[in-house]
Amino acid sequence: MPLALEQRLSIRIYTRCRVQSIDPKAKTLETDSGSQPYSKLVLALGAEPIRLPIDGSGAEDVLSVNNLQDYRHMRERLQSGSRVTIIGNGLIGCEFANDLTAAGCQVDVVGLAESPMDRLLPYDVGVQLQEALREQGVSWYQGNTVERVEKEGDRYRVVLRDGTELVTDLVISAVGLRPRTPARNWPSRSVRTSIRAFRSMAE
Ligand SMILES: Cc1cc2nc3c(=O)[nH]c(=O)nc-3n(C[C@H](O)[C@H](O)[C@H](O)COP(=O)(O)OP(=O)(O)OC[C@H]3O[C@@H](n4cnc5c(N)ncnc54)[C@H](O)[C@@H]3O)c2cc1C
Repeated sequence: MPLALEQRLSIRIYTRCRVQSIDPKAKTLETDSGSQPYSKLVLALGAEPIRLPIDGSGAEDVLSVNNLQDYRHMRERLQSGSRVTIIGNGLIGCEFANDLTAAGCQVDVVGLAESPMDRLLPYDVGVQLQEALREQGVSWYQGNTVERVEKEGDRYRVVLRDGTELVTDLVISAVGLRPRTPARNWPSRSVRTSIRAFRSMAE
């Protein structure tokens, strides 16, 4: 961020600076670059992908795309015509299905819900989305989940709960995120949800 903007907003950004511990009594952070006092502290550490308990020799290779490095890894492993299995028929799973079919991949989507994006869309609208993506080439396996992923040479055999088997080049998991938890040496009582923090800030 340019210095002029930092001055206008009265903020200072310390890049490449990891917080190692928090002392809530002294209201101080210990960082890679030294101590930093605070009066109010907001933790905004991001989120980690949820990993499903999947069995099989290829389970470790199931990819979640949550940062630039994951994205690079996905791009390296894909080419036009690749077959991709996406676990999760929510917003991110559907977005990947759309983008990857547009890029020439063959896409199978496996999702627990009976229709795509069921937490965000009414059933009828979800079915319309499903049909539109089907016309684009997406195959749907809904009301279902992945139990095993077995490595077979350069490819994977994906076994679904109902026994269906899919052979694929890459398995992408898009089943949601959970908040990144603070390091062990960070006192848990200093961590509150954002809603409570914002309430107390408003008070
Ligand atoms: C594929 C994909 C598509 C998405 N599409 C959209 C979209 O279309 N629209 C949308 O609104 N959102 C989208 N999102 C979600 C969006 O990226 C996240 O909601 C957003 O990045 C969350 O911001 P954040 O600040 O909470 O976390 P982050 O952006 O993850 O930032 C957390 C920061 O905390 C830092 N940090 C962690 N630990 C420490 C420490 N000990 N000390 C100091 N710093 C630390 C990290 O380095 C990082 O910079 C998408 C996400 C993905 C993965």
